Amino acid sequence: WTEGSVADAENSMAELAALAETAGSEVLEAVFQRRQSPDPATFIGRGKVEAIREIVQATGADTVICDGELAPSQLRNLEDRIKVKVVDRTALILDIFAQHAKSKEGQAQVELAQLQYMKQRLRGWGGNLSRQAGGRAAGGDGIGGRGPGETKIETDRRRINTKIAKLRRELKEMRGTRDVKRQSRRRNHIPSVAIAGYTNAGKSSLLNRLTDAGVLVEDALFATLDPTTRRTTTADGRIYTMSDTVGFVRHLPHGLVEAFRSTLEEVADSDLLLHVVDGSHPDPEGQIAAVREVLAEINATKVPEIIVINKADAADPMVISRLRAREPHSVVVSAKTGDGIEEALRTIESELPRPQVEFDVLLPYERGDLVNR
Ligand code: GDP
Repeated sequence: WTEGSVADAENSMAELAALAETAGSEVLEAVFQRRQSPDPATFIGRGKVEAIREIVQATGADTVICDGELAPSQLRNLEDRIKVKVVDRTALILDIFAQHAKSKEGQAQVELAQLQYMKQRLRGWGGNLSRQAGGRAAGGDGIGGRGPGETKIETDRRRINTKIAKLRRELKEMRGTRDVKRQSRRRNHIPSVAIAGYTNAGKSSLLNRLTDAGVLVEDALFATLDPTTRRTTTADGRIYTMSDTVGFVRHLPHGLVEAFRSTLEEVADSDLLLHVVDGSHPDPEGQIAAVREVLAEINATKVPEIIVINKADAADPMVISRLRAREPHSVVVSAKTGDGIEEALRTIESELPRPQVEFDVLLPYERGDLVNR
């Protein structure tokens, strides 16, 4: 169930399947349902629950993944009826981010998001309990509502809160280090280029091509979680940095956006944004829109943007023409074959801000040095 059209639902499900494969699952079957709104008890309708139970039995599937965020009670009800593990989209995305986080900061960011997700779910459950307690109180027995269950929730919540506070402190420190680096770049007028884009669009591959950085490329969504910054130079010798950023997905769990805020803020603070789009994807426009939503959320809409239509080798030329017409400020490349990379570099170089005072860049050298050159 999604709010949009049937095509939206199909794209979203195709992405969910790709995400599940990234997490190491084998996808056996996709089941759709058209509904006005999710069933409060079981998310999908009763008939569909029964149909899925039969598919699970027939195929031997061990997990059902729902394309949405399930309330804890919906998850329990579904597991009771279907008899296998049930996972929602958010838990799946969190799982993949956890598997792929490389740096200490990335790991702390994912853990923070996971704890926030868990805490919300505790609150949901606690909420139900208090409503029950209220009901009983109306019947004259307020104490009955405060069973051991609620005490356990309170303890869990306190533990989670303590851990969240600790992670926030650690992240703040790491962020301090990151800010110092960023400020030093600013002071030296070193322009920065951020590569953003939908997950799997080819950001790491493009960074490799553009800078020969040798970043790990995996045929998996989220191969890139931690920003990787490389120094590089323009043809006329100007130094600039180029950074890879986290992959964006549709319905990025809110906790993740918050947890990755500092990483994402680097995008907002850069001088130029390379927005990479997978030209061979069935819905590149949808991906552009999803990325721009996240960019708006992190106030990065003011950064000059070049749309880089990637995977030209695998894309339908009609789709590329359509995209170029929609996005006049775009270049077409293939990070795989290297086609268009030269043109992309020229476009980047022409868009890069020139340092206002050339001498500032050279200040670390002795003035005499300059004269001698
Ligand atoms: P990221 O998640 O955006 O960093 O994407 P990656 O750079 O990890 O690439 C994701 C997948 O797309 C990998 O399997 C790449 O080999 C593939 N890929 C990247 N660029 C191209 C391209 O230009 N053409 C084709 N056919 N595949 C590409």
